Amino acid sequence: MQLAFAREMDPPLLECPWCRSTRLKSHDFDFTGIHISRCLSCGVQFMNPQFSDRHLRRLYADYTNFEGPESTSKLVPRTLRKAKSLELLGQFKDGGRFLSMGCGDGVELWIAEAYGWQAEGYEVDGQVAARAARRYGIPVHSEDFFKLHAQTEPFDCIYLDQVIEHLKRPQDYLCEIQRLLKPGGILFLGCPNIGSVANRWKTSMGKLGLKRRRGRHYGTFHHLFYYTPQVLSRLLQQFHGLEVLRIQGEPPTQMKLRWLEAAWGRLYRALPNCDSSIQIVARKPAVESTILPTSAWNTLQAGKSPDSTSNRPSREAA
Ligand SMILES: [Zn+2]
Repeated sequence: MQLAFAREMDPPLLECPWCRSTRLKSHDFDFTGIHISRCLSCGVQFMNPQFSDRHLRRLYADYTNFEGPESTSKLVPRTLRKAKSLELLGQFKDGGRFLSMGCGDGVELWIAEAYGWQAEGYEVDGQVAARAARRYGIPVHSEDFFKLHAQTEPFDCIYLDQVIEHLKRPQDYLCEIQRLLKPGGILFLGCPNIGSVANRWKTSMGKLGLKRRRGRHYGTFHHLFYYTPQVLSRLLQQFHGLEVLRIQGEPPTQMKLRWLEAAWGRLYRALPNCDSSIQIVARKPAVESTILPTSAWNTLQAGKSPDSTSNRPSREAA
């Protein structure tokens, strides 16, 4: 995909956006010249420098391909994928209030309703949100995500499929998600797995100069962070006090042989790095934890109120 505008970057990050460690290693770069850092303390990988907020606003202003041939051809496999992830959630929660953050065209909203959830969506693009709401007759919010907790009742489940890797300040979003979740509520995260066997192979081949388009698998056109199942689950527990209930690769959906599909699903559950996608289900403790995200700790240490809006992110990728 070609950008219709020039790339704009922030100054380079000197500390890890997740754990604030300054132990950063230059890990890789891709064919477009984007550099990837890896934090030696928490293990997260991220684009460094990152896109500016202005760049992200322009990128996401026209991001969702609502209809058109590409969208239509992908609709069936996407619907099956989403249905499978919602089946997974049924193992941990018997319905209730459901929010899909970054719901795009909203296909998971009607699937969630079909599975007995009372669905709502959040989409940063107001026009896309309005179209999805009209199409499915389901509320889709588009106001400031950081004010959503004041405008809605809390949710039993919050669902982010292929969203967290786009977020520039993931901890701030996860703090808001914690506010939006009921005690005991569950969070679903689906994102690419940079630690998969296939992606490790691509990284190695790129470093050896054997890839024509080195680092294409990072998806730096729109992905800012690159997680492994182990790193992401540790970050959720350490910085957000969430209890990780399930880590797995994304189960296959369209295999001809049902027994093979089931066996493949069991393999991805036992060995998540066999797959290039991660699925995590985590639960907010029934009793509120005292764990604060690092941004709140830093604010406290600097002698400021944790409610200070100085660290509040602008409304960008969602
Ligand atoms: Zn770190």
